[in-house]
Amino acid sequence: MSIYLDHAATTPLRREALEAMLPLLTEDFGNPSSVHGPGRRARAALDEARERTAAALKAEPREIVFTSGGTEAINLALKGIAWAGKAKGNRLVTSAVEHHAVLHTLRHLEKFGFEIVVLPVDRYGRVDPDQLDAAITDKTTLVSLMLANNEVGTIQPMADLIRRIRAHRGVAIHVDAVQAAPYMAIDVRDLDVDLLSIAAHKFEGPKGTGALYLRHGTILLPQIQGGTQERYRRAGTENVAGAVGMAVALELAVAERGDVAPRLAKLRDRLRDAVLALPNVELTGHPRKRLPGHLSVIARESDGAAVVMNLDLVGIACSTGSACTTGSTDPSHVLTALGYPEEEARGSTRLTLGRTTTETEIERAVELIPQTIANMRAAAVVVASDPLGEQVGA
Ligand code: PLP
Repeated sequence: MSIYLDHAATTPLRREALEAMLPLLTEDFGNPSSVHGPGRRARAALDEARERTAAALKAEPREIVFTSGGTEAINLALKGIAWAGKAKGNRLVTSAVEHHAVLHTLRHLEKFGFEIVVLPVDRYGRVDPDQLDAAITDKTTLVSLMLANNEVGTIQPMADLIRRIRAHRGVAIHVDAVQAAPYMAIDVRDLDVDLLSIAAHKFEGPKGTGALYLRHGTILLPQIQGGTQERYRRAGTENVAGAVGMAVALELAVAERGDVAPRLAKLRDRLRDAVLALPNVELTGHPRKRLPGHLSVIARESDGAAVVMNLDLVGIACSTGSACTTGSTDPSHVLTALGYPEEEARGSTRLTLGRTTTETEIERAVELIPQTIANMRAAAVVVASDPLGEQVGA
């Protein structure tokens, strides 16, 4: 069995979530809009999932819109607010380190006349509150920022940033909490946000299920037209089993967070120390204000994709920057925004732990990862000194 260190990409579905989902895929398969018994049972399960999801975020049930994942929740938030507010203004503000679900959605809106302001970040990936403040004008209708970054794990100083946005009137705040949700306490009232996105597969729920928190009274233009589901905000027959699996997984993640987060931080630190003991390896992202199970490094003189492939060969599953950009030869937009030159922005390795990661796995990773990188570097030196292999066996 390989050691799975890619929990920022996705997590396994936890048993409790699967068991809660199974009846809704089999005997209780009804459509929640149907009036008969099976339909009513599905409706009751969906209502309960909404209540439990809302409670975990300290929201009201009517403020939860179920979606097909983080990307759809973000699309609904950004496009929904942008179009609903078009008469007031066309300026939308975000940061350079957002997930492509945010950046590409905003680039799409740009084609329709919206002005997109992308704020720079510091060496760790944090937005400067003064720069944010200065970017907001009376034409700004939306600011979208992530609570924690998927590639480098940095946690934004969100309370400070939101305070600065709130000094301006009429600006909706969307927070991408997709990576933060498993590990950080999320209270939408305390955070003082209008919209917040989560995705179940990051906290051991099913893939293809997410939710958008939409503060009651926030006006948004729905993006999927059809039936009356989700209070007209997202048409289409609901993924009842998905919503139930997400609610169960989220509730458990919230209940276990107090134990899981410090345990992961300790294991991550052990791995970090072992990897950083190699020469020419640098931690990316903030050294302390980062997600507990998140380690991201640049191993100079080693190509990130090659490190990931070599680690796979020794039984460790991890990734370069982000799973969604794997296969692309472009340098990471996150590392570029942090100020890394292009060749280094291609060379990163991300190792992300999750609730199911064990101490034994990390002990093994502590041996294998530095050894693999050291072997690759040694092999590269041999190849550089004898590119045609003429000395081999001579
Ligand atoms: N936002 C962040 C920060 C993410 O890490 C991801 C997924 O990796 C998403 C959004 C997109 O979520 P989904 O994969 O559920 O569409």
